Amino acid sequence: MLLKKFSFSLRHFATIFTYSSIPKHGLLCYHKIHKSKLSSVARGKFNTLTSKDIEFFSSLLGSSGIIQNVEELDSYNVDWMKSHKGKSSLALRPRTTEEVSEILKYCNKQILAVCPQGGNTGLVGGSIPIFDEIIVSTSLMNKVIHFDDNTGVLQCQSGSILETLENFANEKGYTVPVDLGAKGSCHIGGNISTNAGGLRFIRYGSLHGNILGLKVVLPNGEILDCMNTMRKNNTGYDLKHMFIGSEGTLGIVTEAAILCYPKSTETAVAFLGCNTFQDVLSTAKMVRQMLPELLSSLEMLDNQSADTLRDNLKLTVPIATHPFYVLVEISGTDAQYNEQKLNECLSLLMEKNHISDGTIATEPSRIKAIWSIRERITEALLKEGHGYKYDISLQLSDFYKIVEVMRERLGQKVTRCVAYGHLGDGNLHFNATSRTFDPEVLALIEPFIYEWTSERKGSISAEHGIGYKKRDYLHYNKTNEAINLMKSMKALIDPQGILNPYKVLP
Ligand SMILES: Cc1cc2nc3c(=O)[nH]c(=O)nc-3n(C[C@H](O)[C@H](O)[C@H](O)COP(=O)(O)OP(=O)(O)OC[C@H]3O[C@@H](n4cnc5c(N)ncnc54)[C@H](O)[C@@H]3O)c2cc1C
Repeated sequence: MLLKKFSFSLRHFATIFTYSSIPKHGLLCYHKIHKSKLSSVARGKFNTLTSKDIEFFSSLLGSSGIIQNVEELDSYNVDWMKSHKGKSSLALRPRTTEEVSEILKYCNKQILAVCPQGGNTGLVGGSIPIFDEIIVSTSLMNKVIHFDDNTGVLQCQSGSILETLENFANEKGYTVPVDLGAKGSCHIGGNISTNAGGLRFIRYGSLHGNILGLKVVLPNGEILDCMNTMRKNNTGYDLKHMFIGSEGTLGIVTEAAILCYPKSTETAVAFLGCNTFQDVLSTAKMVRQMLPELLSSLEMLDNQSADTLRDNLKLTVPIATHPFYVLVEISGTDAQYNEQKLNECLSLLMEKNHISDGTIATEPSRIKAIWSIRERITEALLKEGHGYKYDISLQLSDFYKIVEVMRERLGQKVTRCVAYGHLGDGNLHFNATSRTFDPEVLALIEPFIYEWTSERKGSISAEHGIGYKKRDYLHYNKTNEAINLMKSMKALIDPQGILNPYKVLP
């Protein structure tokens, strides 16, 4: 009965889908930049660029390594959300660790502020200059340095695009432990610097566990070689962790060693419809219990997310309309075993009425199509006008409550209130939208949402980081003592504060 229903859905599914990938770096237009409270900070006491500085950088990097053209600079000055535009008149594109070192040595001496940038897909304003900081882009640092076939340890430069690394690892029979919707544009250095979570976190865990070694250039230009390819290395303070998730405020990551995992050869994805959020939770629990050795992703979206995809990208869900959808990915090495385990699990979910419709995909093109529903919500929201974007961690018992509270609070003042996220990790992406930036809406959301989350011991930033947008809210998750220690670390490593100023620390 169940299989019949699913195979019907599969046939139906093939006819209603459209594919495309998320916009790449530089392809967006910037007509929607909104003035918000982001511009309330004062410029630090840094020097401004002179022709002598430009001469130095030109001689170091050659003409292909420096960008001064205003139009070209636009894509470096504006963030992916188009929520802020910096005023940098210079982007530098070094090719080696040594060049990054020379740049920072010079900037530190001349007291010039620097903003490190990877793929510029960050969602908290960390990757763009706030004023006229010099942008140091890793876009030309994209070489694979070494791959160990026995251990799966991949060493590469930090500007390598995540998807390129995944394709490289796949050819060797491995997979990288991080995957996210921005994979076609984001750099591994950006992923490391934000400690990106993403879609495989439930199986492989955090980058703190999967990054074995790093090479980092400190703000004074010193090269800190924490490169290591051993899984075990308990030799005192593990300094690399300071740079994982510190969002370019302590150093520029130039090289990394990533632990890759043997690639599962057989993958299946189920897209399931649930009538209540309690059903979503029951589904998640049963999936975890019945598929522990196979589960590789566990995601959810609400129907308002699906509406946004339909209205803005003409992308429709492959099953009947439901208030909630759960996406389950399993991967292993035996297709028959996968199918048997998945069918057992889905049959029981149907029997218990936790799900009332669903479709399974096993072919790569269909798997990709189902994944694009989940991965393209961010892009669909971008087309709506102005986005108020929140990335929080909550206990599953509170997971969807905040959405209902916010809907009540915002009423007709917003065009949409949608929620989706990494259900398996307790990480919710809550988004509200309005046609244009509305300070009244912002004041209704912030700091309320942070207070609500913090009172329930959740995280105000589960995976996107703090960047510029959330720095004033850090205290909702960190004690005064913790913030003071963070400030002391910053002062020790970057006494002149040249590296990514105005970010992370309040
Ligand atoms: C469609 C979409 C989906 C997304 N999905 C997810 C998701 O599932 N999970 C998730 O965690 N994030 C997600 N993100 C957010 C974003 O993609 C991640 O934060 C990503 O890790 C940023 O990488 P990047 O190379 O674009 O970094 P950037 O945006 O360029 O920079 C991010 C921060 O890191 C710093 N930085 C960049 N490179 C370096 C370096 N080499 N050394 C030191 N500092 C550096 C920057 O200064 C900045 O503070 C998504 C974004 C989009 C647009």
